[in-house]
This record gives sequence, C-alpha cells and structure tokens, in this order.
Amino acid sequence: MKRIVVLGAGESGTGSAVLAKVKGFDVFLSDKGQIAPKYLELLSKWDIPFEQGGHTESLILNADEVIKSPGIPGDNPLVVKLAEQGTPVISEIEFAGRYDSAKKICITGSNGKTTTTSLIYYLLKNAGLNVGLGGNIGKSYALQVATEHYDCYVLELSSFQLDNVYDFKADIAIITNITPDHLDRYDHKMENYVRSKFRIIRNMDKDDCFIFCSDDEITISHLDKIVVKAKSLPFSQKHEVGEGAFVRGDKMIVRLDGQECGVYLKELALGGKHNLYNCMAAAIAAKAVHISDETIRHSLATFESVEHRLEKVLEIGGVLYVNDSKATNVDAAWYALECQDRKIVWIVGGKDKGNDYSALNDLVREKVKAIVCLGVDNAKIHAAFEPIVGAANMVDTLSAEQAVRESARLASYGDVVLLSPCCASFDLFKSYEDRGRQFKEAVKKL
Ligand code: ADP
Repeated sequence: MKRIVVLGAGESGTGSAVLAKVKGFDVFLSDKGQIAPKYLELLSKWDIPFEQGGHTESLILNADEVIKSPGIPGDNPLVVKLAEQGTPVISEIEFAGRYDSAKKICITGSNGKTTTTSLIYYLLKNAGLNVGLGGNIGKSYALQVATEHYDCYVLELSSFQLDNVYDFKADIAIITNITPDHLDRYDHKMENYVRSKFRIIRNMDKDDCFIFCSDDEITISHLDKIVVKAKSLPFSQKHEVGEGAFVRGDKMIVRLDGQECGVYLKELALGGKHNLYNCMAAAIAAKAVHISDETIRHSLATFESVEHRLEKVLEIGGVLYVNDSKATNVDAAWYALECQDRKIVWIVGGKDKGNDYSALNDLVREKVKAIVCLGVDNAKIHAAFEPIVGAANMVDTLSAEQAVRESARLASYGDVVLLSPCCASFDLFKSYEDRGRQFKEAVKKL
C-alpha cells in the first residue's frame, strides 16, 4: 500500500490526511509543534496515526510521497532530505486536485485574494451554482474533496500553496496583482516570488481563462517572458481592453465573447480603486462561467466587505472607525489611504517586513493629520513620517485600546480613524484577526 506522510497538522495538513485516508492510503501525519484540539479530534475521528512535538525521521523518510503544509519552508532540513532521496513532496492543492473533477476558479496575488475569492463565491452562489469555497480561506480544499461534493470550487491560493503544485490545473486562474511580499521565503529574489505566483497557470490550455491586471507592471513584464496558452482576459483602470474589463465613463465594462456587461461604478458595494480591481476580476470570472449580467450587477451591488478589510466599525461623534487590520504590507495600506475622503488619523505599525514606506509619502502628506504607532519598534515609521506630519502629531502605543484612545483624542468631527498597519501583527497580537478584533472591541468601549 502506498505510504503518504503529511507534514504539519494545520487546516491543510489534516484535510490532506483525511483525504489520503478516504482514498485508502497508508497515512501518517507528523507535526513538530503541538496540534490544536480541533485537529486532534479530526485525526481521531478518522483514525489517522500521527505524532506531535517532533518529527521521527524513520517514520517519514520511508514515505512514497509527502504532502507538505504551506507553512513549512522548502529549505526545512527534513524537506531537503526528502528531496535528496527523491521522495516527491507535493502540496495539499496538488493532492486534492487529483481527486476532484469540479471546475476550479483559482485566485492568487499579493493583495486582494480573499476579497476577490469571497466575491466570486458570492456571485456563483447567487447564480444558484453548487459551489465550494476553499484553499487559504475557510475549510481546506482537501477535506471538502474528501467529504463533500461540489460542481465548482473557488480557491484562494497563496504563493506557498502554489510552490508544490505540479500537475494541478485551474480552469480559470486569477492573479490580482504582484508586489513584493514574503521575500524571506524566496531567497529575497522577487523573480522567485513572481514565478511562484505564475504557477497558478501551469497546465492550462486554450479553453481555460487567465485573468490578470494589465495595470500591474510586474505581472506584465513577466508575461513578456512566457507563453500563455489560456485565453488572456486582462482588466485595467487605465485603458480599454479587447476582452476583459475596463472603465468607460461612469461604468465598469466586462467584455467577453462579443458581449458587454456594464455596471455603474457608483453601484458597486465595495469602495476604493483596489476594490474596483477586485470587482473587475470577479466579474470576468463570473462572465466566463456564463452568469447572467443581472446576477453580476446585483451581486456587486450587495456584497458586504470581508471582516478586517476596510471594515467600517462605528461612527462616534462624527469620527468613523475603520478596521483594515489585514493590510499587512505597504501596497495594501496605500489603497486604504487612497480611498479615504476624510482626514485620517492613521494607526500603523507592527512587525516590519522590510517595508519601504516612501511610496506612501504623497498620500500621507495629502490626507493624514496624525499617526498613532501600534508596535513594539516604531523607529522606521517615525523616520519615514515625522518629516511629513511632524513629531507632535505622532504617538506610540502598545495596545489596541491605547491606540484607539489616542486616536479618539487626535481626531475631530468628520475625520476617519483608520487601522491599516502595513505590518504583520505578531509583535503584539496573535494574528491580524486578533488585532482587528481588539481594535473593534476598543472602539465599542469608547
Ligand atoms: P489577501 O487575501 O491577498 O491578503 P485581502 O482581500 O484580504 O487580500 O485584502 C488585504 C488588504 O489588501 C486589504 O486590507 C485591502 O486594503 C488591500 N487590498 C485588497 N484588494 C487589493 C488590491 N486589489 N490591490 C491592493 N490592495 C488591495
């Protein structure tokens, strides 16, 4: 019997183990750390042998194939050993894709993945399709392939999830945009990160669709170097495209197979240029699976923003509080600042990922009246923005509650307090969700 070893017992690892069990393999799961109770329960329910608190090499190196969780880097010594002895190391997505004949709409990119994925799922649901949502969002794809049946999947794929796909094929692939992120996992080489994103179009042929942003320089310059077999469907806010999506006057136009669907920009439920891009990508995908113009218009007009993404929390004394805790890099924060039409008290900071803040200078000069740093080490933020907003308008805080209190003091009627941190959350919080929730709690206590 073929032996499958799964490394890492998070959402994707446990899902893969269940699928391997269902498919009749000899499965073993190994996690270096402690396995969360909900996953221990799943492993026991499916009677899957496992270890935690360390890897026993003799139980792993004898695998016929290894499924590696996306959190484990490729240069992990055990993974290197497996590669050296010729054991195939694949990802959950590669494994689950083998057992799934549903149509797959796959979304990657540096920013906008979750929003675009959720929007497409909402569109397809509204159209009455039997659709599953998975990948980097919600329940793992593998667990759903093992235990449910869908005609179509919308899958959010991070670059880490794409790193170990080989034969997996999307029917519709979307790259929202590409800006520097996670370069520590890619030998600090942008080219490696870009190539990883482009793995999403592997194995596609002329009947498949590739949707991408033609305003994105990094995407376009990579496209100049490769041959794409799938039908190319670009979206742009700068120029009209043949097939794809663009802006004409006060409408977003989606054009496909000689047909046009127009949606008034003012009717889009999600605000900001970045969300217009996300809506364009989602609408092209919807049109490509023959969803009616009416459903597309209705869905784009009624979609509610995803938690922690420019989420309006409360308006108190004329000051609006917005939670954009998921903005963990400079590009995401750029769009959050850009789409505000009020003066901003900006809460920023956390674990810096090698940020270059200079891209934000113009927006900060134009819109930001005060900066509340929320992080252990705020030196780079002070150095970047003190010359613009002035030292007197910058404060340091060490908790969401303190940050919200300081923001309330600095804001006046008509302002917005925007948590859009540009940084990861791990210096003070468990996760970006934890940071966002603590922010919302603190706002509610004001
Ligand atoms: P991801 O899943 O790729 O991290 P999200 O949809 O969760 O993306 O959004 C993360 C942050 O990025 C949001 O806070 C938002 O401000 C910003 N954002 C969303 N869409 C885009 C986009 N198309 N381009 C740039 N920034 C975006």
